[in-house]
Amino acid sequence: MTRPYLGNPKYTIEVLQKYNFAFQKRFGQNFLIDTHVLEKIIEASQITRDDFVLEIGPGIGTMTQYLAEAAREVVAVEIDKTLIPILENDTLKDWDNVTVINEDILKVDIAALAQEKNGGKPIKVVANLPYYITTPIIMGLFENHVPISSITIMVQKEVADRMQVGPGTKDYGALSLAVQYYARPQIIANVPPNCFMPRPKVGSAVIQLVRYEEPPVQVDNEKLMFRLIRASFNQRRKTLVNGLKNSQELDFSKEEIEKAMAETGIPVNVRGEALTLKEFADLANAFNKLR
Ligand code: SAM
Repeated sequence: MTRPYLGNPKYTIEVLQKYNFAFQKRFGQNFLIDTHVLEKIIEASQITRDDFVLEIGPGIGTMTQYLAEAAREVVAVEIDKTLIPILENDTLKDWDNVTVINEDILKVDIAALAQEKNGGKPIKVVANLPYYITTPIIMGLFENHVPISSITIMVQKEVADRMQVGPGTKDYGALSLAVQYYARPQIIANVPPNCFMPRPKVGSAVIQLVRYEEPPVQVDNEKLMFRLIRASFNQRRKTLVNGLKNSQELDFSKEEIEKAMAETGIPVNVRGEALTLKEFADLANAFNKLR
């Protein structure tokens, strides 16, 4: 069987020239051309012959070749239809455990895919993500309770940092709290622009999110907690009370807000950006009891 070879820039250039491929900026196309980074991603994701892997955005199939070697089965979802013949007839043709789907990942029913391909057991997601859809993809996977064991993804360095930090830093926000509620984040590698073709303007990082079996805090109403979190960070310079009062998603009165905060022991003049995940969980539980 052919070994993965596209990580070598020489072969990537050959494929691009053979098909006269034109990079599409709107799809965030930056293809990996560094075998060390590819090997690191595969090693970190701990894929075995038992695993079903979903790859988002295979490009010309660079990482897909490695995934196909390691996994039982791979489904790769690619939005750009000009890449499909390259993948199917050329770069992936030597692997019979890969299916390419020409679709926008945001329109794919991933839970149904996991059911069909993996009997509903947790799947692994691996992606070198287009940066413009990083947040909706990750939030969609978690909030819809798709069965997932881990997500190993290349993202903009700044976004990787945002996923890891706690209160008191400027990067702390709704994404940090959502990621940390569902998963344990760990940065696997920092990846400079010269590992891609074409070179992106920003630095990247591979981050792995290992899904918790049980969230680290107990929440009676998850949806309510995330509404509180969004309301707090929509107006992050305002006090928590004002943020919650002005939210379009919530309809608690000033008295109710103060009551819930008093019950949780959170001072009324605090800003939302100072609260920990545990404090948001306690606050959500206090609000949930009010109604
Ligand atoms: N995985 C390849 C690699 O590492 O070389 C390509 C990575 S490139 C950063 C992102 C890929 O995602 C591109 O192939 C792009 O066309 C694809 N893509 C962009 N938006 C997408 C979407 N909404 N759904 C599926 N694929 C998408």
